[in-house]
Amino acid sequence: MNPFALLDKLKTPVWIIRPSTEEVLHANPAARAVATGLSLADMRHGSLSACPHPALSDYTPAILAREQVVEIWTIRQQEQLQPLCCHLCWLDMAETADAILVEASSSIGTLPASAAATTDPLPEDGFHRMLMQTNSAPMLLIDPADEGRIVNVNEAAMRFYGYSRAEFAAKHTWEINAQGRAILPVMQQIAQLPGGHKPLSFVHRLADGSLRDVQTYAGPVVMHGKRLMLCVIHDITEQQRLKSELEQAALRDPLTGLWNRRYLLQQLERAIQEKQRCGHSFSLILLDADNFKRINDQFGHFTGDEVLVWLARTLQSRVRAADSVCRWGGEEFVILLPQTTQSNALHLAECLRDTVANGQTAPLPAITISMGVAQHQDEESVESLIMRVDNALYQAKSSGRNCVIAA
Ligand code: GH3
Ligand code: MG
Ligand code: MG
Repeated sequence: MNPFALLDKLKTPVWIIRPSTEEVLHANPAARAVATGLSLADMRHGSLSACPHPALSDYTPAILAREQVVEIWTIRQQEQLQPLCCHLCWLDMAETADAILVEASSSIGTLPASAAATTDPLPEDGFHRMLMQTNSAPMLLIDPADEGRIVNVNEAAMRFYGYSRAEFAAKHTWEINAQGRAILPVMQQIAQLPGGHKPLSFVHRLADGSLRDVQTYAGPVVMHGKRLMLCVIHDITEQQRLKSELEQAALRDPLTGLWNRRYLLQQLERAIQEKQRCGHSFSLILLDADNFKRINDQFGHFTGDEVLVWLARTLQSRVRAADSVCRWGGEEFVILLPQTTQSNALHLAECLRDTVANGQTAPLPAITISMGVAQHQDEESVESLIMRVDNALYQAKSSGRNCVIAA
């Protein structure tokens, strides 16, 4: 019996997802109804989505520590894209090694008026004073029932956004959110949350027009029977920039600036998946500088490095934007050519061979290159493709170098 069959009786959408692969193990009928035509990536990263982490596996420590984790997904209902608030928790089941249960929170309603009235409100004066004097994180107090009108802000918020208190008083949150009014339904979803969850990610626009990546914690506060939201803003723009720089650096070769072997292996796996989906075949060129040891011995290692940089630039300048040139290691390079037949790849390889053999200008020493070329065959693995192209390169070397051989 399907271990998730019981979930099918629930009216709220529920997904079971393996975080390591982002594979949807199960979606109950309610989930399937709101996900029509949308993949998991479409929902998590859609136009109305707010997901603090790009990958689900990043949540694992927080979820295991039973912290409240919430994402806003973009779903389709009555032909319209709508935000859906989802709670993420760990699923401990023998059948699944690792699995996250994602449950939509559409059943959570707004606080009933009577409940609001009996909740002990923060004394407004004390609360306001605390809000004004807090000088660390920017804070906004907003009214979700009035299109997110900004009711109050602290000093840090005025400094961060660059608006005076008077300017803020005439604004709504959708006016500082880069999504504009499209954020209103998302805000309605967040307003229904009980609070205590992890912050959500948004892009906010400052008074000078610049955009900042922010994480926003929006918690409910009840004042005079009115349910408002206190938003605490954390600017993560620099953090995001450093993160993407580090991610880029991890995939680049420091000497030539080309992609590295790790990136190329990722791209090869992707190209094979793409071929299975769309039928687009691709080719690979493996290229090795001839007698490079001699260049180093004769001209020194630094000149050898300069020749490698020149070779990298020359290769990069001769390929299409969609092609990936990678430094495979040492004086070896690989070029991945999407949507390219073997004969077109051979033609390009011959052009590259000619350009390198005749293109070097003094004071750098002249070099030649040998190449193996192969088109990916149906059902072929990355390892097998690389082995074939490597054999072709070996033959090119045996045939006297400065030549191209097809696998
Ligand atoms: P073949 O034509 O058979 O490829 O001969 P080769 O001399 O190029 O091949 P071999 O594998 O014997 O030597 C490769 C040389 O490339 C040796 C190594 O020092 C040099 N090399 C590898 N990486 C670098 C680098 O980053 N900078 C410099 N300057 N030389 C490098
Ligand atoms: Mg060599
Ligand atoms: Mg070599």
